[in-house]
Amino acid sequence: MLKIKENISLKKYNTFGIDVKSRFFVECSSVQDIIDFIKIYQKQQIPLLPLSGGSNILFTKNFEGYILRLLIKGIEVINETNHEIEVRVGAGEDWDNFVEYCVKNNWGGIENLSLIPGNVGTCPIQNIGAYGVEVKDVITNVETLEIASLKTHCFENSDCNFEYRNSIFKSDLKGKHLITHVTFKLSKQPQFKLNYGSLAKEMSRFDKIDLTTIRKTIIDIRNSKLPDPEKIGNSGSFFKNPIVKYDAIAKLKEKYPDMPTYKTDSDMIKIPAGWLIEKAGWKGKRINDAGVHNKQALVLVNYGNACGKEIFSLSKDIQKSIKDMFDINIEMEVNII
Ligand SMILES: Cc1cc2nc3c(=O)[nH]c(=O)nc-3n(C[C@H](O)[C@H](O)[C@H](O)COP(=O)(O)OP(=O)(O)OC[C@H]3O[C@@H](n4cnc5c(N)ncnc54)[C@H](O)[C@@H]3O)c2cc1C
Repeated sequence: MLKIKENISLKKYNTFGIDVKSRFFVECSSVQDIIDFIKIYQKQQIPLLPLSGGSNILFTKNFEGYILRLLIKGIEVINETNHEIEVRVGAGEDWDNFVEYCVKNNWGGIENLSLIPGNVGTCPIQNIGAYGVEVKDVITNVETLEIASLKTHCFENSDCNFEYRNSIFKSDLKGKHLITHVTFKLSKQPQFKLNYGSLAKEMSRFDKIDLTTIRKTIIDIRNSKLPDPEKIGNSGSFFKNPIVKYDAIAKLKEKYPDMPTYKTDSDMIKIPAGWLIEKAGWKGKRINDAGVHNKQALVLVNYGNACGKEIFSLSKDIQKSIKDMFDINIEMEVNII
């Protein structure tokens, strides 16, 4: 039975801890629930926003529409060979609980993505990635419900237009489809990916390397570097790392020889946005309760009572200063509402 609530505070539903209200609020735990709700919703001309873990979103004002929380659960093995396993997962499963479940079963492929907040249904939206792995590498398909037609769709991996922190669900189809399930293909004979940053060195303290030790190490590294949203509101990396043509940075490299750069698959160069922000003097800066984290300049934080507008305004100032200093545009990774 659908329960539509009114004037609900969203503070506990977003990891920035921004205290805004939603005019209407509804939770759906099955595809049928969503269909029933959309039929009610379609008669009204007000906005609709799907919300899962709230860890990639910045609310800048009260939401004058429906917040729809997608809580579909379930982990189902749909195919298995000696080498691989295919698992179909409900959008409302917690991402890190799913990673833990896979690691315990010795199913490899997502262990490097341990401790990323959020739900399974949102992992394809920005093609979550960390420690040299992107979730696109293990996604078979993404099932959705199209809001306008109430039709179900199944997007095969190649239909999802996966890119660095992007997909069709964050670009052309943003706001048009609700993700209900994601199917993953994982390996029963996992190949470990340890060549990212300090991971290999950190792993050397273990006599035996397996999925459990990789997960533990990544959790330890993340806990030492990133602020815990339970203690300091944040949304992880606020900006994407800019990817530019080599010509565009040749002069900058002369001026800043210490600037780190990474080659991408497409002959473009990726620059860590955190380095640019730190170099521009923002690391640790605080304006009222909105700030730039003192250990990781890519993370904007809410020290307590910042409102979304203050964090947004800080992010615009940072973007402008990076443009002025380096002539580079840094794009926001977080969804601004
Ligand atoms: C401390 C911290 C560390 C992080 N580290 C990483 C990292 O290492 N790598 C990385 O890639 N990301 C990272 N993130 C970002 C974030 O965790 C991911 O983007 C995550 O996938 C967001 O999931 P969510 O469920 O919280 O999404 P939400 O914030 O709830 O939603 C994100 C967007 O998707 C839409 N949406 C939500 N649910 C659905 C649905 N079912 N169907 C359609 N649209 C929907 C929302 O409207 C919104 O636009 C980090 C965040 C934090 C707070």
